[in-house]
Amino acid sequence: MSADDTSGQDYRARVRAWLQANAPTVPPGDTPAEYLAAAKAFQAALFDAGFAGISWPKEAGGQGLSRTEQQIFSEEAVDFELPVGPFAIGMGMCGPTIADLGSAEQKARYLAPLLRGDEVWCQLFSEPGAGSDVASLQTRAVLVDDEWIINGQKVWTTGAQWSDFGALLARTDPDRPKHAGLTMFVIDMHAPGVEVRPLRDMTGRAPFNEVYFDDLRIPADAVIGQVNAGWHAAVTMLGHERVSIGGRRRARGNPLEFAAVAELARTRGLASDPVIRGKLADLYAHERVLELFNDRMVQEAAAGNPPGARGSVAKLAGALQVHRAVDVAGSIAGAGAIAWDEDDRSGDELALAINSSPALSIAGGTNEVQHNIIGERILGLPKEPQVDRDAPFRTLKVGTQGS
Ligand SMILES: Cc1cc2nc3c(=O)[nH]c(=O)nc-3n(C[C@H](O)[C@H](O)[C@H](O)COP(=O)(O)OP(=O)(O)OC[C@H]3O[C@@H](n4cnc5c(N)ncnc54)[C@H](O)[C@@H]3O)c2cc1C
Repeated sequence: MSADDTSGQDYRARVRAWLQANAPTVPPGDTPAEYLAAAKAFQAALFDAGFAGISWPKEAGGQGLSRTEQQIFSEEAVDFELPVGPFAIGMGMCGPTIADLGSAEQKARYLAPLLRGDEVWCQLFSEPGAGSDVASLQTRAVLVDDEWIINGQKVWTTGAQWSDFGALLARTDPDRPKHAGLTMFVIDMHAPGVEVRPLRDMTGRAPFNEVYFDDLRIPADAVIGQVNAGWHAAVTMLGHERVSIGGRRRARGNPLEFAAVAELARTRGLASDPVIRGKLADLYAHERVLELFNDRMVQEAAAGNPPGARGSVAKLAGALQVHRAVDVAGSIAGAGAIAWDEDDRSGDELALAINSSPALSIAGGTNEVQHNIIGERILGLPKEPQVDRDAPFRTLKVGTQGS
């Protein structure tokens, strides 16, 4: 089906009507707990109306429709500020990875509650000594009888404070090379042995956390994919993550979206300024190119050609576009980007968006790491030297090991 044919138009009309009737008009809830409750109620309504997991297979709890319908929904949703943030990691990363690699029991148990927003997920990869080089992680999982016992620490875990489950990457065999001794697990974030501590960022909020594991016990069958094949599972999840981050369309209300920046220029009387007009034209051109690139990846994926390393192009281009928007919006707002009248909500939102923007160049793999991936896997440039690739992990100096 193309997005323009009759059934596509019917679907678009149904989506628009549902969103107009059900999308919240003001951000719901004053506290994080109230927001989460409102977000769960909204996600359940979305699921019950048949608009969650639109292109996921039916056996994975989804609607079994094509990516075209998913794209129609995304296009219509940009006009609304939907409270779906708490589900982004579950739906964009953990869920698709379980759908790809999980056992039949895991798919049956986890995917539908995840899609309905009844259960929230987080991704437990990064550690104090393992970020870009995540294969150097030290969290240990040891099989004792029919249970894995987990000890270690994760960091920057988005949404751990309200998550029910996490996809954990841990070391199961330190005698193998670093990429070959990892395993991915499902863990219950409410189990004894899991401690979540919030981390505050420069916006003043605490979107991510440290997570400590102290003799956490999980069942032997909590493995996603195969034991010691966690690197494959991690690469699968990171591929979903990059497409999910890069392909995300900013809601129209977002202060860094082109229309909002152009409106800012109008309200500040700078719409005729030739320098600002040039910057706005550049911003618009890049935003359009990025949209077309993402649309093309969606269509190619629908035709059976998954994005692979091109997800890194989407992720990198999305991060660079936000920096471009910060530059233009900052030039227009001037001192208004850091100081505004008490009753000026737009000043508050602009400052929050600007202060949040550096995170996009780090989360999901830094810009430099995306450059490396694009260079090696798309442009065919020589690989970075990796002297520690074949040595047993136990012999390496990484994190707190061997220091
Ligand atoms: C908002 C946010 C949310 C996050 N959420 C999560 C989450 O939910 N779960 C999770 O597991 N992690 C999460 N992270 C962590 C994120 O994945 C890591 O921060 C990221 O991978 C970088 O790792 P690092 O911070 O350890 O930096 P490092 O890896 O120490 O990098 C430091 C600097 O060195 C550069 N560098 C490193 N290696 C290379 C190389 N080979 N070539 C060139 N340059 C290099 C980097 O680009 C960077 O500039 C989140 C991060 C942010 C900012």
